[in-house]
Amino acid sequence: MSSSGAPFFALDPRALPLMVYGLMGDGAALAAAARDLPIYAGRDFHGGSLAEILARQPFMDKADLRRQFPAGFLRPGENLASLLASRRAEVVRTSGTSGDRLQVLWEAGWWERQERAALLMNPLMAPHLGNGYREAVLTTPLCSESVCKTGPTTMEERCVDHLLFLNTQYDPTHWKTGELDRMAAELERFQPAALEAAPTYLAALARHFARTGRQPPPLRWILLAYEFVCGHDRTAVREVFDSPIFEFYGLTEAGVFFLECPLGRLHFCGSESVVEVLRPENCGLREGVGEVVVTSWGNRAAPLLRYRTGDLVSVDGAPCGCGMRGGVLRRFEGRLRDVLAFPSGFFTPRDIDEALAPVSGIMRYRCTEEVGGGLRVAFVAEPPAGNGNQLAQAIEKCLGDRLKLAVRAEPVPFIAPEPSGKYRSVVPRA
Ligand SMILES: [Zn+2]
Repeated sequence: MSSSGAPFFALDPRALPLMVYGLMGDGAALAAAARDLPIYAGRDFHGGSLAEILARQPFMDKADLRRQFPAGFLRPGENLASLLASRRAEVVRTSGTSGDRLQVLWEAGWWERQERAALLMNPLMAPHLGNGYREAVLTTPLCSESVCKTGPTTMEERCVDHLLFLNTQYDPTHWKTGELDRMAAELERFQPAALEAAPTYLAALARHFARTGRQPPPLRWILLAYEFVCGHDRTAVREVFDSPIFEFYGLTEAGVFFLECPLGRLHFCGSESVVEVLRPENCGLREGVGEVVVTSWGNRAAPLLRYRTGDLVSVDGAPCGCGMRGGVLRRFEGRLRDVLAFPSGFFTPRDIDEALAPVSGIMRYRCTEEVGGGLRVAFVAEPPAGNGNQLAQAIEKCLGDRLKLAVRAEPVPFIAPEPSGKYRSVVPRA
């Protein structure tokens, strides 16, 4: 048997969740936000608790949003042109980690409101989020929420409100020294309190600082977001930046939901939203691993009911001593579609990443399932090059022992991101 890539996607809408986060109130606000939208016509929002109302709703996914945009989100008498002209809402395009990119509606002010509420929950960040708060953003230039800046631009052109968007190029592998120096100089000039970054992009900048001996600017904290955080990237960032690092999880179409605390655990930080973690049916995943399903009604322009994110997490019922309120997750596990199913077990991208953690010197890797079983690991070695064969042996041993199957590792000069600009570290056979 080998992985088929997507053997267990079904979820039972009536199944008991492994964990529910944010379940407060009676469901009246949810009902008020969703009731008169065509996409939710005929739904039953009456009677019972919020949990009971939710349990009656079917799941929705990205395909539903794509199919229903924009008609499903226009209330009677409303049309898209007038909605946008009045600035009550805007159209935002997601980067899309899977499938095509998506267009969604954001009610004016919603994203900033719920993101700020989330960050305020972290005791280390809260005192610094007042007027004058500045943040630099380093991710694909395609997916910054409210701006798309590619090609030659000035720093002023990439400043939007309190944000500076640093990156102008698709693939950090091909950043030239001049490009990296420009970003370092802009960080020094802009003096942000914090940096929000995709880990692969920030790791590339961190390695530049390490190579050149240049000092990174002081930052109060670093937020790692936008994509799965590989251990090697987090280590590269930690070794250079003398700032606390927090992982942050959100979806452009739904809001932000989890934030790492000073004790390194992941707390629910959503507002006007509920996250259910549901275990896919007939799956061989480890105990406690489930898919994130979000219900989010703070964005009145496009509330989402039981939206399947395709993201896996492992839950953790133990309380945390950091003082942050929201319930706790153990860790992010990666995408459901990227789970490898082998006779020796089912493995999430986090399992693979954890197995590779003891092998230092890997800059980037991508595991692909081979036809006929086995796993191929393409990897980019840290400079200086030349230790590729040793690294390959170490990878083959580590992963081979963990997965109990044949692993073939080979050094490659670079690994390209997905068309979305995000990296994918595990690719099962389709
Ligand atoms: Zn905590």
